[in-house]
Parts: sequence; C-alpha cells; structure tokens
Amino acid sequence: MNPYIKQLVTLVEIDKKIDSYEPKIAQISKALDTKLAEQNALEQKIKQYEEELADTEVKREKNEQHLAELNEKLKTFGKKSAAIKSEKELKALQLEEEIAKEQVAFANEEIERLDKITEQKKEQIEETKEKIQKMQEELEELKETTSKEVEKIEKERLEVFEEKQKLLSLMSQNIIVFYEKIRRWAKNTTVVPVRKQACYGCYMRINDHTYSSVIKGEEITTCPHCGRILYLESQFEEKDEENESRESASL
Ligand SMILES: [Zn+2]
Repeated sequence: MNPYIKQLVTLVEIDKKIDSYEPKIAQISKALDTKLAEQNALEQKIKQYEEELADTEVKREKNEQHLAELNEKLKTFGKKSAAIKSEKELKALQLEEEIAKEQVAFANEEIERLDKITEQKKEQIEETKEKIQKMQEELEELKETTSKEVEKIEKERLEVFEEKQKLLSLMSQNIIVFYEKIRRWAKNTTVVPVRKQACYGCYMRINDHTYSSVIKGEEITTCPHCGRILYLESQFEEKDEENESRESASL
C-alpha cells in the first residue's frame, strides 16, 4: 500500500490526540474552578454583610441622636409646666410629654433591635471567614493536584507535537497542503475508513471505481461525495497484528 496513506492516517490520529488535550485540561481544572467560584461567592457574602453592618451602624447612630434630642425635650417639660396657666395648656403639654416618652421607648427598642442585627452580622462574618479558611486548605491541595495533572498532560501534548513534527518532516509538502485544506472543514474526519463500500465521513456509498482504487491503495483516493481522504482499515490491521506479535515477542 501507498506509504502516504499510512502517513495520512497517522497524521489524523495525531491531530485527534492533540485536539483532545484542551477538553481534558478543562475537565481537570473544573473541580478547582468550582472551588474558586465558591470561595469568591463567600467573599462576596462577607462584603455584603459588612455593608449591612455599616448600614445598621448608621441607623443606630440616628436613633441615638434622636434619643438625645428627646431627652433634652423631656427636661424642658418641668419648666414649661410651671409656666402653665390653663387646663387646656396643661393637657396639651401632657399629651406632648406622653408622645415624647413613647418616642423614647420606641428609639430604645429600635436600638436594641439594631444591636441584635449587628451581633448577628458579626457572627455571620466570622462564620463565613472560617468557612473560607477551611476551604483554603482544600484549595491548596486541589491546586497542587490540578497543576500536577495538567503538567502531565502538557508533557504528553508536547511529545505528540514532536511526533507530529517528525511525521510532517517525512511527508511530502503537497500532501500536507492537501490534507490541511480538507482538515479546515473536516477537522478530525479528514481521513476516514471505508466500510461496506461506504465512506465513514459522509456515510454515503462510493462507486465501484473509487472502491477498487481504495482497495488497491496505490494512490490517495478521496470520497466523490464529500472529498475526505479514504483508506481501507484491513490494510492496517494486518500490519498492526504484526507489530503486536513483535511487541509481545520482545516482552
Ligand atoms: Zn464521504
């Protein structure tokens, strides 16, 4: 069989391998990416709690200020009552005092309520910080294992790249250009087997003339329907078996 066909089949296998590394790396990094996203979400939560805490602080201050004003006001009622002349004025003053006292009570309640919120927010911040701390250890471990695995794949990828360079250096430039042209659209199905007289790229039956040319394997044949490069697997299987028996013999 034409050695160029064998080279093309090997080349498409190498290209397939090279394309498989990116998704593999993405898969490996997924667990780490998820953990990093979780940590980021917790950090965002802390920010949110801190904002709520500051907001509560402002509200508390306002209530404190209001309370101080009310207390000042209550102090003046004694003086005012001494100056009162009529029943009507007395009633109005008493009503005013009552309202002020209610407002004091309400401001105190509000301060108490806000203090509870402050405490709660502080606890939430602490809890979240602890969670992040615990996660940090896991993250460090995960970072290490991920980088090791990625490194391993990168090494493998480099080896396959070198393998490809070696193969390309042995191939004819015209054939490489021909292959690359088809690969632009056919990607990893640039070179496909023929099974049951059908192209396994487009799955259409090929005519007898093309089929016999593929069987002969003397020249590079393309599918008349889709243009992919065709080959017959049985021609490789014999070789593969030879290789396997040789390998097992050397073991
Ligand atoms: Zn085809």
